[in-house]
Amino acid sequence: MEGFDPNEVDVRMAHFIHGRLVEGAGELPVQRPSDGRIYAALPVAGADLVDQAVQDASRAFKTSDWSRCAPRERARILRRWADLIEADVQTLARLEAVGSTRPVKDAASWDVPFTADGIRFFAEWADKIGGDVAATRSDNLGMTIAEPYGVVGAIAPWNLPLVMASWKVAPALAAGNAVVLKPSELTPFSVLRLAELAVAAGVPAGIFNIVQGDGRTTGDALCRHPQVAKMTFTGSTRTGAAIMAACAESGTKPVTLELGGKSPQIVFADAPDLEKTVRTVARAITLNAGQVCVAGSRLIVQRAVAERFIERLAAVFAELQAGPTWDAGASLSPIINLREMQRIDGIVQRGVAAGAEIVAGGRAIQVGGDGAYYQPTILTRVDSAMDAVQNEIFGPVITVQVFDDEDQALALADHPDYGLAAGIHTADIGRAMRLARGIEAGTVWINRYGRSADYVIPTGGYKRSGIGKDLGRQAYEANLHFKSVLVDFAA
Ligand code: NAD
Repeated sequence: MEGFDPNEVDVRMAHFIHGRLVEGAGELPVQRPSDGRIYAALPVAGADLVDQAVQDASRAFKTSDWSRCAPRERARILRRWADLIEADVQTLARLEAVGSTRPVKDAASWDVPFTADGIRFFAEWADKIGGDVAATRSDNLGMTIAEPYGVVGAIAPWNLPLVMASWKVAPALAAGNAVVLKPSELTPFSVLRLAELAVAAGVPAGIFNIVQGDGRTTGDALCRHPQVAKMTFTGSTRTGAAIMAACAESGTKPVTLELGGKSPQIVFADAPDLEKTVRTVARAITLNAGQVCVAGSRLIVQRAVAERFIERLAAVFAELQAGPTWDAGASLSPIINLREMQRIDGIVQRGVAAGAEIVAGGRAIQVGGDGAYYQPTILTRVDSAMDAVQNEIFGPVITVQVFDDEDQALALADHPDYGLAAGIHTADIGRAMRLARGIEAGTVWINRYGRSADYVIPTGGYKRSGIGKDLGRQAYEANLHFKSVLVDFAA
């Protein structure tokens, strides 16, 4: 995709209720990450507007055909939605680029097609969930019937706005629910286009509503609304805990939580093609400038190759070119805002004060404008107690720990709180499988890192990295509850 003028992209600051944009008085300033430009302010849905959106969704759930039509028909509409999204790739990718940290070329080649294909994947599940049938006598029968919950509340993070929102919304809709989505207040507008396209594809008005605002006001009101039957959330572990508490207090609602991580990448001396492994490890921590939940932020490398590996990693980091998301030549995204960059730098500098060594990066990059960019950074001489090793940095910073044998690698990989993902690089398949079974993480990649179009494989965390799954059959089933019907037909 060609470069473009970011000021010519028409961004809308609105809610989306009953099939149309609903404007409101702007309250929260929204910033363009690449250059810090301040857009018009975002309206914030208070409890009244959240109530209106949920009531509308509830009415649409009860009165439209969405939950009652043949599941094949729902699937057809969802597939049409995916087609419209693909056809709209130019607009969606540009909206994503000016509203988030996603480079336009990545948004066009990955985020938008990934969003469309994810919707197609869930559309295909719409008529494929059966139930169980059992009889204890010849004149009775028991069966389970899968039913949608009603209104599902969804709350999304800022880091991959379209993809993350679609992973929440698509399975809920495919299962026949209505959805009220609250995107992040930092990246509020690309999903509005998604909702407009849903309506254009035939999703009935009210079945997919969007409320804008911050977490404390809008997000909390959504979680606590009595007519929200289930919540699905992606974001930080701390917010996930607050959402779980709010859901418990307001009706014991089921929750799906996709939370933070501190994922290890273990490199053995026999890793197949060390140069390729260096690039895989580099990409796992620099994609979206490390602002990815599964960022491979802890390199655990075998002593025999450690020095060479770190040297090559630093060289690959040095190739990256920071620049605005609309610049086709840029390969390193901005940090979402200055405050986040200062937080990232604070962790790095505290690490140094505690004895860590910076072997690459460790500073902000000046690109022009008020965008915040940070050098891909390698921290060595760290220990497991350090902030930089313990806590999610959510930036392009990788810590390095060296091991001698497999047991040591496994012990270093284990994190007391997080268990989102892990990477293992070795030519020894037996060792790879032993470690894959031993590591407590929701996803383990062997000789690769990161997702591609494997929608059938779910994603989700162990430990405090989450509850439940996005993608896969599991994500679809989590949007249904199962009713047991037992009938005695003896005369
Ligand atoms: P965040 O937790 O700060 O915010 C996420 C969303 O929750 C936002 O929409 C926010 O407005 C809302 N929110 C905040 N407080 C709330 C409250 N009290 N009640 C209801 N809603 C509230 O996270 P973020 O900074 O947007 O995203 C980064 C985090 O998301 C990282 O920790 C990252 O690892 C995680 N993440 C996880 C996955 C995954 O699949 N596991 C994917 C992407 C991001």
